[in-house]
Amino acid sequence: MILGLHASVRRGLTASLDEARALNCDALQILPYPRGHAPGAEELTAFRAARRTLGLRRLLVHSRFVPSLASSDEPRRQRSVAHLARELVLCAGLGGDAYVLHAGAYSPDASPQDGVRLFADAVRRAALSAGFAGPLLLENVPGGGRRLGGTLEELARLRDALPPGGPITGFCLDTAHAWAAGYDLSSAEGSLRFVARAHRLLGADAVRAFHLNDSRALLGSHREHHWHWGQGRLGLEGLKVLLQRSEFSEIPGILETPKEPGADAANLALVRGLAVS
Ligand SMILES: [Zn+2]
Ligand SMILES: [Zn+2]
Repeated sequence: MILGLHASVRRGLTASLDEARALNCDALQILPYPRGHAPGAEELTAFRAARRTLGLRRLLVHSRFVPSLASSDEPRRQRSVAHLARELVLCAGLGGDAYVLHAGAYSPDASPQDGVRLFADAVRRAALSAGFAGPLLLENVPGGGRRLGGTLEELARLRDALPPGGPITGFCLDTAHAWAAGYDLSSAEGSLRFVARAHRLLGADAVRAFHLNDSRALLGSHREHHWHWGQGRLGLEGLKVLLQRSEFSEIPGILETPKEPGADAANLALVRGLAVS
């Protein structure tokens, strides 16, 4: 895997690259813009130039706030479509190698099938209006309630509701979310089963990124509680399997573990060690 982490853009877009440099990351994930600030063309150009200088191999742009793409509330869904279109334009402007998105939830008065259809329509329209050529990666979520995309089956349904070839061209699998959704990744056997299932349901080349997070939540609890590697419930055996699979050697593996002093360096060192052990 091409390893790195999620870095904050609070101090500016280019400052996130400083974090990648300090920790020797080959991959980075950022939000498309700092809160309350729309980057202009000059800032985007400067970011792309700084990234080239750094030699960063993979850049993922994670959606900031598009919660209502599957909602039956038309005005809310329209706002989310417009918001997503703006983020997709920014992703291209930043030179992002992929944009990562959650499907969100369907409305209380609707069915999951309605939600899948509305989400697909919303993504199609946003990508069209942004002229976004992809790739757009759909991320699995902890599931539960009306949240779409907790299971591999549902991820496949969400993609298959869109025309073949786009705009969703692959998936980003989050280990803590998979665990919360009931996939036991705490052992080598569990991880192997999960990978085999992902290949069967999503397609052999469809997994285009990982979010590598341990978790303090219980298996199948549908709760999100990202935690430091080796200190949570997932442990290291299952992670090692993911890190050492040859088909994942050229895709980004991004840590979204808690940001305590020194924690990023420690988590990265642990994961890098497992990748080659
Ligand atoms: Zn996410
Ligand atoms: Zn994630």
